[in-house]
Formats: sequence, structure tokens, C-alpha cells
Amino acid sequence: MTEPTVPSIALPVVPLARDPRPGVSGVEPTELAGLLASMGEPAFRAQQVADAVWRSDAASWDAVTTLARPLRVGLAERLRFDTVAETDLRLADDDATEKALHRLSDGRLVESVLMHYPARGERRERNTLCISSQAGCAVGCPFCATGELGFERDLDVAEIVDQVRHARRRLMPLGRHLTNLVFMGMGEPLLNLDAVIGAALALTDGDRFGLGSRHVTISTSGVVPGIERLTALGPQWTLAVSLHAARDSLRDLLVPLNRRWPVRTVVAAAAGYAAATGRRVSYEYVMIDGLNDTAADADALARLIAGTGSHVNCIPMNPVAHTPWQASSAERMEAFAGRLRAAGIGVTIRRNRGQEVGAACGQLAAEKSAEPTAVAVARRRERLVAASAAALAGERSQEPVMPGLPAAPLRPIVDRVAPRPPTPRRPGTGPTASRPATTGPKAPRADAPRPASPHPTGLGPAARPDRRGQAGRRPPGPPRRGSR
Ligand code: SAH
Ligand code: SF4
Repeated sequence: MTEPTVPSIALPVVPLARDPRPGVSGVEPTELAGLLASMGEPAFRAQQVADAVWRSDAASWDAVTTLARPLRVGLAERLRFDTVAETDLRLADDDATEKALHRLSDGRLVESVLMHYPARGERRERNTLCISSQAGCAVGCPFCATGELGFERDLDVAEIVDQVRHARRRLMPLGRHLTNLVFMGMGEPLLNLDAVIGAALALTDGDRFGLGSRHVTISTSGVVPGIERLTALGPQWTLAVSLHAARDSLRDLLVPLNRRWPVRTVVAAAAGYAAATGRRVSYEYVMIDGLNDTAADADALARLIAGTGSHVNCIPMNPVAHTPWQASSAERMEAFAGRLRAAGIGVTIRRNRGQEVGAACGQLAAEKSAEPTAVAVARRRERLVAASAAALAGERSQEPVMPGLPAAPLRPIVDRVAPRPPTPRRPGTGPTASRPATTGPKAPRADAPRPASPHPTGLGPAARPDRRGQAGRRPPGPPRRGSR
């Protein structure tokens, strides 16, 4: 295995102003043609620019030598060739997993993960990229490092697409091609749906990135209106729904959006998507020892999705967040999957790729953020143990449901501490700082007005994932239930 490269990207100590120039990959082809015409360029220039953006290995306008220098300078004044300011890579699984930490122009950090699957038998080689749609996430699933960060901001179309262009540039010298794309990185894609749709359309457009629609998967924690909007749009993209529990009491805890859109409404919306698109929906089920992995859970899941023709992916929980929980054992996962299969449900047990380099999305970004105090971590764990016990006893969450989207109390569970003391920003790594850092909790309630993209708020502090030993001994988890 290759030694992981420790990311050198520094979190900006003061928030940076976002670069006001749009990213070229987020500009519609007609708009680009119009811009070039307004610059006095002939019509064929649009194709040359498109080739540079979508086909070449150029990483900057400077490298696009098919265009005359004055035009390159003119374009650079108006459009960014790349919205990702800097990227650090970590390799794992004998280099088959490559985790990238991308710094955006305002200093926000997002992650993408590139996974290589060699050809096997009849099966061709696959290169799958997992990308982020938001910096942070407002949903706040307690087992997720991104959820613990809280919401920072939505990514725009170019910021989503440029994660993919980056991966393609890394694949090109190896003679490899991107074959699959999954929106399973940081953020809830259906809470940034305009940009996600814009990016997916650009990436599946034969004149732009050209990925097959059926090779794109969008994962959601269950934003029912978003699923309905996708259904009306009728794309050939695959929908994955993060279920994690079939009973509302437990899902209220694991996926707080469940308080607004209970699990049955999510499954009904997913069935509507499958019916409209003819695409099989897959359900993601992160397995947590003693919490959601019993025979009773498997039976409840089988009853919930019976007859929908959907498939379940069982994934061991990656132990990253400040939780009292751990992954289900291989035996428990097998027993759970076997019970589903016996009920006629298709199941795959997935392994987590690249655990040793922080495989769970949000983990690298969280490592760069401010650290919660040991007291705050202990309090969070106590709260989760109590909430687990209540959920296992069948109690639904008492947290109030907010009006508007996404309607759950989305405060971070861990109190944040102030950001690390200032260190000088490296010269030339971004535009000038604009606002002082905030010290309060980073995640706004989701019904609070959001900064309208592309004018983000300042950067706030956030939590770091679990570092066992630093934050004290792990408290006992919820009482383990026996399998029936
Ligand atoms: N917000 C969307 C997509 C991003 S999360 C969603 O929730 O579906 C992508 C997947 O990673 C989800 O299925 C999520 O439950 C899973 N995930 C998050 N934290 C994890 C962890 N610690 N271990 C294993 N899977 C995790
Ligand atoms: Fe957000 Fe998905 Fe993480 Fe939940 S699992 S907090 S929805 S990124």
C-alpha cells in the first residue's frame, strides 16, 4: 500500500471572498458562444474553447495553446478555467482509491474519491468518482463526518463539474476513463438540486463531458420534493436513497430529515421515480452494531420495500464521527443480508474503500476544521446513547419540525470551539480576505435564509472527526439487541 500523503491544504484563518468570475464549465454552450461573439471572435472559436474545457488535459487558460494569447487573457478576465484552487491527494487500497481534498476559491474544502476497479472476467474495468454537491451538509446525520461539519454553502455547477474534470486529468495519463459518477460525497444533492441537475446535464451531454446518463447516480437522504422534481424531469440517472432504518423512531435519529418526510413517504417517492424512469432504485443502509442491524430491522426493511424491485446496499459504518457507535460485524451483516434475500430482496454487502485515509466523505475536510472540546464530544455521545435507547424503545424524536425546507432542527450536535489561532496565509493561494471569521456554530438552521450562491457567508469553525484516545474513552454504546 502506498503511504498516504498528508494533505497540506491549509484552512484559511479568515474567510476569503469568492472569486466572482464564473467557472467556464458551468457556462451553457449558447452563453459561451454569445460571450465569444461579444469579444469579436468568429463562431468556430466556441468549439475550440469547448475542446479545451471538455477534451484536453489543460489545467489553466495559459495551457490552452490552441487559442491566441490575447484571447486567453481576455477569457481569463471573464471566466475561470478551473474553480478548484488547489487539490491534495491521499492514496489507499494499493492506489486503487484516491481521495482528493479540493480547496475552492473562498477556502471551503470539499472532497471527491476516485475508485478503480480492474477488469474481472466478463466485467470491464471501472473508474468511479464520488463527488460533493455542498460544502458541509445541513441534514446532520449523526454518523456522518459531513453532517457534523454543519452546512457551509452550496456548490455551483462549475464547482461540481470541476471535481470531475480534475479526476479525468489524473486518469488521462494512465490511459483510463471515468466510467461512473456518484453524488455521494459531501452534501445533500437534492437540497442543491438546480446546481446538481445543471452539473449532471453538462456531464452527460455528448458535446461536453459525455458520460452515459445511466452511469450517474444521485444519492439522497430522502428529500421528497427533490425526488418528485427529478421524477418529473425523467432523467435516466440512478437514484440511491439513504435509508439506514425502516422504522421512523430509529430513522428520526439517524437521518433527521425523517422528521419531515417519514420513511414511507420517501419509499413512495422513490417508487414513483422508478416507475417514471424505469430505473431501479437502490437503498443505502449503513450498518451500525446493535442499533439498526437486527433480524427485526431486516424484516421491517423487507416489509417496507417488498415489491418495489429495488436493491439494498449494506455498508459497514465508517467510524469517523464523534459517536458511541461502531460498524456491524461481518457476521451480523451477513445475517441481515441473508434475511433480506430470503424475503426476495436483492442485496449487496459493500466494503468501505480507503478507510485508512479517511474514506468517509467529510472526514478530510473535518480534520482541517476546528476541534470540538472533549467535554462537547462526551456530551454528544451521551446524547446519542440516550437517543438510541429511546429510538430502540420505539419513541419518535421530540425535536420540533420546522416549516419550510428541510424542516428539521439542524443545529450541530457538537458545540464548536473557536478556530485555531491565526497562521499567515500562504501568498498567492487565493483572493483577498473579506470578512472576519465567525466563532458561533457553523450550521444555520435550514429554514434560515441561505447565502445566495455565488455570494457565500464567511467561514466558521467546525468539528473534527473522532480521534480515539484524544477525546477520552469511548462511552458504552446503546444496549445491544439480540437478533430474533
Ligand atoms: N447526502 C446524501 C449523499 C451524500 S452521503 C445521502 O445521504 O445520501 C453518501 C452516503 O454515505 C450516504 O448513504 C451516507 O449515509 C453514507 N455515509 C455517511 N457517513 C458514513 C459513515 N460514517 N459510514 C458509512 N457510510 C456513511
Ligand atoms: Fe448529509 Fe448525507 Fe451526511 Fe446525512 S449522510 S449528513 S445527508 S452528507
